Amino acid sequence: MEDSRSSDGGSERRSSVISRRGTNGTLNVIFTDPQILDCYICCEPLSIPVFQCENGHIACSSCCTKAQNKCPSCTLAIGYIRCRAIEKVLESIKLPCQNAIYGCKTVMGLNLINDHESLCRYEPCSCPLDNCTFVGSTEQLGLHFTKKHKDSAKIFSYNTRFTICLNNGDTHRILKAENDGVLFFLSYTFEIFGNAVTMNRIGPLSSEKKFCYEIKAKTLGSVLSLQSIAKEIQGLIKVPPSKGSLLIPNEYFGSSTQTMLEISIWPAH
Ligand SMILES: [Zn+2]
Ligand SMILES: [Zn+2]
Ligand SMILES: [Zn+2]
Ligand SMILES: [Zn+2]
Repeated sequence: MEDSRSSDGGSERRSSVISRRGTNGTLNVIFTDPQILDCYICCEPLSIPVFQCENGHIACSSCCTKAQNKCPSCTLAIGYIRCRAIEKVLESIKLPCQNAIYGCKTVMGLNLINDHESLCRYEPCSCPLDNCTFVGSTEQLGLHFTKKHKDSAKIFSYNTRFTICLNNGDTHRILKAENDGVLFFLSYTFEIFGNAVTMNRIGPLSSEKKFCYEIKAKTLGSVLSLQSIAKEIQGLIKVPPSKGSLLIPNEYFGSSTQTMLEISIWPAH
């Protein structure tokens, strides 16, 4: 009696799992312990081949070599028997990109998702305004800035020269490209011999799209200029990178407390 009831219950459970499959035959699963996909020994994500000892302890292939084919848990031989069941699970798992909440739709196998994420163009950046906590993809940040802080950025067009006037005490200026909403961060920092002007682009550090800029500080009879590629930053920075700055010596503008800069920015090809 008991046996037949439990086998009925079993087949009910099986059919309910199958009925939860999506139309493309996939099944969404929640891992309550995501570490089961890591090697027990080195804690790195498991990759195929996966080996097991006779007691069923599993290890990645590099740990088998390092442990000289002795299972660290029970000292039995390891590195000769593959654990096909775990390998099949690893092969079938697909993960969404960690930037899915910022709009990335990529879903990939375990062995590929890390490479994608290191280059993902949806990598989030934070709003460069001191009192704002917004975080989003570059595109979302551009839209956010237009909506919430319309007057906080100097709007410019690529390949067109414009002038920025900085006063004593200014620390930065935010520039926004009219063409595509990309934000740039012009920092103005006090150094021993003068003031350093640095241009950065707000965007993912791995971004393949680069932007060139030229900054000119003109005064009667002389021009200081710097042409370079804007390094990416992912939000407000207090201390800009010291490399790639234009140093404007003290008293370059005479007794004036204003720094006039002529700037041009354009996408690199
Ligand atoms: Zn390992
Ligand atoms: Zn073992
Ligand atoms: Zn992504
Ligand atoms: Zn904001």
